[in-house]
Amino acid sequence: MSRHPDLLVIGAGIVGAATAYLAARAGLSVTVLDRGAPGGGTSSRGEGNMLVSDKELGRSSTSPCTRARCGAPSSEGSGTCGLEPKGGVVVASTGQSLTALGALAERQRRAGIAAEPVDAADLGDLEPHLAPGLAGGVLYPQDAQLMPMLAVAHLLRLARELGARVRPHTQVTGFLRGGDRVTGVRTAAGDLPAGAVLNAAGPWAAQVAALAGVHLPVAPRRGFVLVTEPLAPMIRHKVYAAEYVGDVASGDAALQSSPVVEGTAGGTVLIGSTRERVGFDRAVSVPALARMAAAAVRLFPVLAGVQAMRHYHGFRPYCPDHLPVIGPDPRAPGLWHASGHEGAGIGLSAGTGALLVQALTGRETALPLAPFAPERFG
Ligand SMILES: Cc1cc2nc3c(=O)[nH]c(=O)nc-3n(C[C@H](O)[C@H](O)[C@H](O)COP(=O)(O)OP(=O)(O)OC[C@H]3O[C@@H](n4cnc5c(N)ncnc54)[C@H](O)[C@@H]3O)c2cc1C
Repeated sequence: MSRHPDLLVIGAGIVGAATAYLAARAGLSVTVLDRGAPGGGTSSRGEGNMLVSDKELGRSSTSPCTRARCGAPSSEGSGTCGLEPKGGVVVASTGQSLTALGALAERQRRAGIAAEPVDAADLGDLEPHLAPGLAGGVLYPQDAQLMPMLAVAHLLRLARELGARVRPHTQVTGFLRGGDRVTGVRTAAGDLPAGAVLNAAGPWAAQVAALAGVHLPVAPRRGFVLVTEPLAPMIRHKVYAAEYVGDVASGDAALQSSPVVEGTAGGTVLIGSTRERVGFDRAVSVPALARMAAAAVRLFPVLAGVQAMRHYHGFRPYCPDHLPVIGPDPRAPGLWHASGHEGAGIGLSAGTGALLVQALTGRETALPLAPFAPERFG
């Protein structure tokens, strides 16, 4: 083994952890640094859905994302990550939105996604507490959920077992250079040379890229989640309104909230989620919480009498074209990026890691990396 790691990963979120594990499994020596605790960034602030249902297909720009996710390793230790293959139900409240949902499902089916139309009359069989009067829906049996913090811990444990080093509370403050080339990182604890450096700093990826003198337009997109008191099991799938897909694809900076509701093994119900671009503003937004709660009650009237126990928020790593940044940076040879997964980083992490490791080890990538190129923004 070389004295310096082949790969130094900045960021021990789900993307960094998945890549570190897959790189170690491919025989690379790996060190992972995080300025805080592993999983302490956005990866501990989401809902843990691994969705195929919310991915638009047919557009060349987005289809690689979903296929990357579909190509992800799925079974390794899933039992220790709280994986629930519960399926998703997307519901439409009007005939117009049902038509749009049906068209999306048709495109997804052509790409190999299981998407089963559900008549209005049959929605109650899937979800007995849904509001009456909905126009219909689509069942996505491949949608699943896991606990992202457990997944981060598990992936890092697997990586360590393969020889990787994980160094929490180590902030990267700059880069080592050999001419144009990035040859390692600077930290308060000293310089760390490495064969290649991966920027997996989530919504902070732009700041890390700037330390290397390169522009990356990854920005935070804030999201709140409401958590109810524990209830008897009543919501079986991940259930969300058809409008959610449009919110995800929108670049609007203003507050958006379409209801996303799901039960958890502990009995609490997670109600998500808002989207707004307000920088790293951590202030609680009562209007955002109120809008989410009202929308969830419209979907599941039974929630009207239920107490919200707590809320939390996080910052999705948003990219202006809604595609992640994956691959080497020709502007700073030796520097690689894996960020900008916005609201799908849990689901896309393993596919991202797989693509990166293929490229790092000089193999052909399962998907072309051009749509994800870091320099595509000009
Ligand atoms: C409300 C909400 C709901 C969501 N729901 C889902 C969902 O259901 N499904 C899904 O797939 N995704 C979901 N997401 C998105 C998902 O959480 C993110 O896409 C994913 O967590 C990003 O992971 P990451 O590893 O890129 O970033 P992070 O988890 O943020 O990790 C980046 C790490 O980099 C570290 N770092 C930053 N700067 C430095 C530095 N200079 N030196 C060292 N370390 C540094 C940070 O400390 C952090 O730990 C949701 C997000 C939110 C906010």
